Amino acid sequence: MKSWSTASHLLVIMLIAVIGATQESTSHSPTQQTARTRVVLLGTGTPVPDPDRSGPATAIVVDDSAYVVDFGPGIVRRAESAALNRKIPAVEPGNLKVAFVTHLHSDHTAGYSDLILSGWTSGRRVPLEVYGPSGLQSMTERILQAYRVDIETRTNPDGPMRDAGRFPDGWKVNAHEIKSGVIYKDEKVMVTAFATKHAMESYGYRFDTPDRRIVISGDTNPVEETITACNGCDVLIHEAQPLELLAKMPQSIQSFVAKYHTTTEQLAELANKAKPKLLVIYHTISFPPGIAPSRLLPPKAGADALYASPEMLQKEIESRYSGKFAIGKDLDVY
Ligand SMILES: [Zn+2]
Ligand SMILES: [Zn+2]
Repeated sequence: MKSWSTASHLLVIMLIAVIGATQESTSHSPTQQTARTRVVLLGTGTPVPDPDRSGPATAIVVDDSAYVVDFGPGIVRRAESAALNRKIPAVEPGNLKVAFVTHLHSDHTAGYSDLILSGWTSGRRVPLEVYGPSGLQSMTERILQAYRVDIETRTNPDGPMRDAGRFPDGWKVNAHEIKSGVIYKDEKVMVTAFATKHAMESYGYRFDTPDRRIVISGDTNPVEETITACNGCDVLIHEAQPLELLAKMPQSIQSFVAKYHTTTEQLAELANKAKPKLLVIYHTISFPPGIAPSRLLPPKAGADALYASPEMLQKEIESRYSGKFAIGKDLDVY
């Protein structure tokens, strides 16, 4: 009797396990609540000092591990905000241990010293591992050199981080200069870099995790490599510049954008081929009312002449692309 009861108990457990597995395998689009992998926008801006948009920084979070792409100014405070307000402890500044940089423009790297040093003082005990284009090692060495007084006074016998048993290597950085291909792998994620077309050596990244495939463009003219990397991916995070705004900008900026960035029209065309389940638009040039430098404002224009409202972007994309898309804002989670 006892053994029959044990056997039936086991059968019930097995049935539950089978039903659970079936439900999991038929769930094609994990929601934010159930997915193991989430995209957290820590900064969606450009070089424009928009108080509502930090410099470009994105975290791909898999379970309790976070992988950062780009470290624009504001990254550390936005990361803390996401940890507190979105309840994602993986992005606590002290937990940020692996980062990738798309290219070395200042809007994508001005938060580097903050990520290194505030990450350390917030509790990181291992070196920061950073991957990116040529020039990354030199930038890293010079940042550490520039902050040698800070590092020395925190680690000397008087310093608050002197407990070498706890924080021996937290300020150190291992900078890895990469080429296209698989550049990183651990038990949670495989990261593939692909060449993009910008004003300098630049890469987009594809993240393959246990439940999602995520592609991020960085700054780039539309390239075939992004379409290949996505090819039906779960989330494509891509820059876009609005046509209506560009038409009002000086010719020099229009030419630069034509060579090294992507318009909304071009992004719609690219997304129609890449077919992401969700397209997230970020890094859009826009000057909120009152902050455009006068040299850029057209003659007699109002203070909001160079503001790209979410409605403007929405209209330009939805008239050309029927897939699901979102205009990314800082601290959005997908
Ligand atoms: Zn940029
Ligand atoms: Zn750039």
